[in-house]
Amino acid sequence: MSQKIAIISLGCPKNLVDSEQMVYSLQQAGYEMTTSIDLADAVVVNTCCFIDAAKSEAIENILELARMKEDPSTALRAIVVAGCMAQSCKEEIFAELPEVDGVVCCSALDRTVEAVREALEGKKPMIEGDLSAPPFECGRTLSNAEGYAYVKIGEGCDNRCSYCVIPSLRGPSRSRPMEYILSECRDLASKGIGELIVVAQDISKYGIDLTGKPQLVELLREMAKIEGVEWIRLHYINPDGLSDELIELIASEDKIVKYIDMPIQHISGRILADMNRHYTPEDVKEKVAKLRRIENMVIRTSLIVGFPGETEEEFEELCEFLREAKLDKVGAFPYSPQEGTPAAEMEGQIDEEVKLERAERIEYIQEDVMYERASGLEGKTLRLMCEGFDRIAEIWYGRSYAESPDIDGKIFFTDDAGVAAPGRFVNVVVDDAADGEPIGHTVE
Ligand code: SF4
Repeated sequence: MSQKIAIISLGCPKNLVDSEQMVYSLQQAGYEMTTSIDLADAVVVNTCCFIDAAKSEAIENILELARMKEDPSTALRAIVVAGCMAQSCKEEIFAELPEVDGVVCCSALDRTVEAVREALEGKKPMIEGDLSAPPFECGRTLSNAEGYAYVKIGEGCDNRCSYCVIPSLRGPSRSRPMEYILSECRDLASKGIGELIVVAQDISKYGIDLTGKPQLVELLREMAKIEGVEWIRLHYINPDGLSDELIELIASEDKIVKYIDMPIQHISGRILADMNRHYTPEDVKEKVAKLRRIENMVIRTSLIVGFPGETEEEFEELCEFLREAKLDKVGAFPYSPQEGTPAAEMEGQIDEEVKLERAERIEYIQEDVMYERASGLEGKTLRLMCEGFDRIAEIWYGRSYAESPDIDGKIFFTDDAGVAAPGRFVNVVVDDAADGEPIGHTVE
């Protein structure tokens, strides 16, 4: 009887794609995958450690599994730690978490099966790979049946932002060959996946390591030719990589949804320089203005508040920018110093309460934008990716082009036309959006 393996996938969509590759590899090796942790012989925890909160979440999951391992009513015999925290803390994990039975770094994603096998044999493997090796090419077992899939086009990053540990955990920027990406996209489309979400640490840098120049535009043009793909969504484009050619393509290619995730992090020139971000406040304002020329363009961004030395004036500068720019979706994160990064050594570290208070003030500003945007939807007919049915609320839910999975809200609807099914595109008329959460009904 084949051994059962479960996987807990933490962190970002890039880590989720890694988890899907791990599942595929384990299935190919003859293991049976289960979503019931208590039935699993081994559990792989694919971790994140971008910020302290992520590290704590990973450790909480590992300790919970350790308790289950002690419980004779469960089948659990091995805990394998994978992902960024494995890469970052590979030496200390066994010492600080003796309950762990195996460690496989994100640089050794291709050896996950070996790590699980040896962990189950009690060999306490710690497997590390070459951080500059080409990204691991392998099939995936999708983790959702909601009609969308992330397409990871590269690994690592060369940007070296002063607050970020990613380059030391994921290595230099390495793009996947375009033909591998396109064949994966064709395979996904052939399985009925209509929405492809393009991810990497900074997708704007795609292809530079392969050809010396950015190739994202070329890649997107080829992806748009694939039959069955209806939506192509772009995440993680830094302002310095948002070229006029790319903006033109977003504007002219119907399959590329009018939605962009462009992390700007701040708007103060001094802080952007200290973050080692490769653009100026003027660049940001120029890119936002160009994007705003695209009808119904939705701009998502992420911000860091409480960066070392951030004065009340600099924070107010950011607030004023948000009031003017009215960015559609904003994630504001209190700065979290990471060991080994230049920013963690900087003078003027800000108190936690001040950081949290500033993050709240950003949320407050954005609430107005959210309500204004939602109320503008009433009476409109939206094309939604139907994601599923909420059995408790007895209502369907989905996303329009303006919502990305997991990070943006949902649109709820009744299926008056009898057309709803997970993973299918449906048309919904918005009846009400008073509380900022649009609700509607399907039409033919
Ligand atoms: S762009 Fe900056 S923040 Fe993003 S992964 Fe690269 S170094 Fe980190």
